[in-house]
Amino acid sequence: MDATSPTDPPAAIGSAAAPRGVRAEFRAVLLYALWAGLALGANALGIATLPASAGLILIAGIALTSALFVGLTRIPGDEQPTALTIIAAQLLMGLIWATLYAYFASGSPLLAAGMYTTAVGFGLHAIAEILHTEKSRLLASNAELQQELERVTRRAERDQLTNSYGRRAILDMLAREKARAERTSDPLCVCLLDIDHFKDMNDRYGHVTGDRILAAFARRVRGALRTMDSVNSNGLGSAMGRVGGEEFIVVLPLTSLRGALRSAERIRKAIVRRPFEGLHQVTVSIGIAELRPGETVSTLIDRADQALYGAKHAGRNRVHCATLDGGPNAIVMPDMSAAG
Ligand code: GH3
Ligand code: MG
Ligand code: MG
Repeated sequence: MDATSPTDPPAAIGSAAAPRGVRAEFRAVLLYALWAGLALGANALGIATLPASAGLILIAGIALTSALFVGLTRIPGDEQPTALTIIAAQLLMGLIWATLYAYFASGSPLLAAGMYTTAVGFGLHAIAEILHTEKSRLLASNAELQQELERVTRRAERDQLTNSYGRRAILDMLAREKARAERTSDPLCVCLLDIDHFKDMNDRYGHVTGDRILAAFARRVRGALRTMDSVNSNGLGSAMGRVGGEEFIVVLPLTSLRGALRSAERIRKAIVRRPFEGLHQVTVSIGIAELRPGETVSTLIDRADQALYGAKHAGRNRVHCATLDGGPNAIVMPDMSAAG
């Protein structure tokens, strides 16, 4: 099927390909034939007479013009004139032949007027078709671009290794949830997760295994979060994002400190329950903070970080909560380091 086949998809305004249906150059040939037939009939009936030599010149000229336009569509790809150029040239030629007919023929001016009207009508219809096709093409490519943008955005906000949200995406999400929590006076908690002694793990088992452990760690946390979401059935899902090498944030909307503590404990247990890769024991320390009225996202994270620091210092593999009043010392929760 060539580039200008009538069954081709809609063409661009800059290309010479015509829209679906009978192509304009063939329609023009049909219209020329129709008006030549009418002119011959009128000539035979003596309504509008045309000298034989002028008739021959007109028929030869029109045939050449039509052949030229049909030939133009055979020119390959980029070298073709645009569809609009061809239509404009066809319109012009139609008007020239109609004018020559009007000049040479004597008798009914109605025939010449009909030829003019047909030429102009043909041109306008062809242009309307092109514009319609162009509009459909633009709408289709717009939708495609929109889909591509969504794909790229989704990919950009994901951390490839752990398939969690990236730092930027999770912090944006936290800012949105904070604004919502302030509007509705609902509680909101964040948990900072940091894998214990991960550097040692890398040193001992290598970076590649370290990467696999990171990915598996994130899967386990997500699994624990899914269970909690269905338990809480709070309508708003929790979200996890990777904010550093082996550090993650979990945002828990509609969750008070007590609920967040339960969630974090569930995460901690899910991690420590069985070794990773069937070999490596991994533990995680978690710091929790609940949003206080009027505080900023960065203060909230700072307080969770202090709680995390406390958990590390207290021996790791445990969950600490930041004080609600914003005091410098995190509350040290009962030692939960026992596996399971
Ligand atoms: P702590 O218990 O105090 O958190 O000790 P740690 O060793 O986990 O903490 P530290 O911050 O000293 O080391 C973090 C290590 O995480 C350093 C780096 O080798 C490792 N790391 C960071 N990003 C990646 C990563 O993408 N892949 C792998 N395999 N390791 C990473
Ligand atoms: Mg760290
Ligand atoms: Mg660590």
